[in-house]
Amino acid sequence: MPVYEFICKDCQKTFEILRPISEAPHGAAPCPSCGSQKTERIWSSVFAITAKKS
Ligand SMILES: [Zn+2]
Repeated sequence: MPVYEFICKDCQKTFEILRPISEAPHGAAPCPSCGSQKTERIWSSVFAITAKKS
């Protein structure tokens, strides 16, 4: 079962969600820490770092 990684834009915490491929979260998942809906899927942290504009 794949793990989907998200980051919360409110508390800046990252969290992982286990979902079957058939139930892949396409949108935001609520933050387990603060309950915020302002979460963003992290597709590749390595890519995000290297592609970050300075
Ligand atoms: Zn949060």
